[in-house]
Amino acid sequence: MPVIFEKSRCGRSAYAVPSWELADTDPIPAAMCNDGVDLLEVGEVDIVRHYTALSRMNFGVDTGMYPLGSCTMKYNPKINERVAALPGFTSLHPLSSPALSQGSLEVLYDLSEYLAAITGMRRFSFAPAAGAHGELAGVMVIKKYFEKKGENRGVILIPDSAHGTNPASVAMCGFQVREVPSTAEGDVDLHKLAAMVDDNVAAMMLTSPNTLGLFDRNIVEIARVLHDRGALFYCDGANLNAVLGVAKVRAMGFDLMHINLHKTFSTPHGGGGPGSGPLGVSDELEPFLPVPVVLKGKDGFYLDQNRLDSIGRIHSFYGNFLVALRAYAYIRMLGPEGIRDAGNTAVLNANYLLSLLRKEYNLPIDRICKHEFVLNDKDMPNGVTTNDIAKRILDFGFHAPTVYFPLLVPGAIMIEPTETENRETLESFAAAMIAIKREAESDPEIVKSAPHSTPVRKVDAVLAARKPVLKWEG
Ligand SMILES: *Cc1c(COP(=O)(O)O)cnc(C)c1O
Repeated sequence: MPVIFEKSRCGRSAYAVPSWELADTDPIPAAMCNDGVDLLEVGEVDIVRHYTALSRMNFGVDTGMYPLGSCTMKYNPKINERVAALPGFTSLHPLSSPALSQGSLEVLYDLSEYLAAITGMRRFSFAPAAGAHGELAGVMVIKKYFEKKGENRGVILIPDSAHGTNPASVAMCGFQVREVPSTAEGDVDLHKLAAMVDDNVAAMMLTSPNTLGLFDRNIVEIARVLHDRGALFYCDGANLNAVLGVAKVRAMGFDLMHINLHKTFSTPHGGGGPGSGPLGVSDELEPFLPVPVVLKGKDGFYLDQNRLDSIGRIHSFYGNFLVALRAYAYIRMLGPEGIRDAGNTAVLNANYLLSLLRKEYNLPIDRICKHEFVLNDKDMPNGVTTNDIAKRILDFGFHAPTVYFPLLVPGAIMIEPTETENRETLESFAAAMIAIKREAESDPEIVKSAPHSTPVRKVDAVLAARKPVLKWEG
């Protein structure tokens, strides 16, 4: 498709208020054309058609099912957008005094209380701008906690199923990463863990439920092993959707966690837009939260800036406020029962989809799953790979699942349907996956050369990495 500048023609323009003066000159002065300034000249209809066509070349959760595991690409209710666009919020200057921003401070305070009720943590800071930023803030809290105790601990443990941001956050904060192996059943290997925990271990970072979509059956025992040696237990809360309103992360024994508001609490994400990764901590770790912390006093809500043990400021102002506002709207709209329904339905949908696919696809770890599950390409005939399946599913009108993650499953296909897909959609997705299996048996070339119906066909990934074309040469 041509870029809009290629559609530009001298003298064309969109809506313009006519001059009230009668003039007999040429309506397009010659000087406006070819004057060396490369301005766009197109009619209104060209603009509308150009951008409508572009939007139809894209795929989003408003277009179809988006089963990208580990990302919780649920449908984002439009009411969130209405609330986040209210001028009382959008036109409030971040330097306004607390007296003039009581409503916005109340949103942050109440949201922290809601998240505390859902997770059992004491308080949340909305400073982190994404999940990975929440991890970094959490590891900084861990560091400060041991500094304050006068203990020098240099290691943080991470299981082999972890998301790549976990070891990155730990390393950025100056800790050494040590990998904990999983059992063949997908749990943390408790015996190996017990042998690894010593007085040099500051914490373990675990995703719960884990990135295989499994709830670790030894979670309480893992917490005990860590706490017995004085170490802390950090929860990567990216998968909170699975246990929403059902199990409290704090009660599992975790001391601190981040939540990906954009995943669990429905802000459109995936295009690199703003996110929010609030950090929640136990009573004991509360003094270390980043500043400012929103508190409630007898004269209303205020910003507590003077906290001696705080790790300090990690973001301008109050983090990505409008993402927190969307999460607030989402939680208020669902209420406690709705929140629990969302978590339970996410798990039900995943298990239903798994039951439809398990006869046709290899399931490396065969257990009841939480909100997502991991298949792989082991049973695919004629050399059809995970990558081929991911490309072919686009022709059926679905986004691809997450592929080749988690790393401990070769050829992983990680599927997370979320609670927002109905039964018919789940069944048509399963039918498409099974149709691809049949094609792999009878006509593998059609799978290997897919996609056939998308604006961009199978790209040469090696060429794209070696010789990226990043600039339009007009
Ligand atoms: C998404 C995700 C992260 C990172 O969160 P961002 O908001 O993308 O920075 C970390 N861990 C897990 C398990 C995730 O799924």
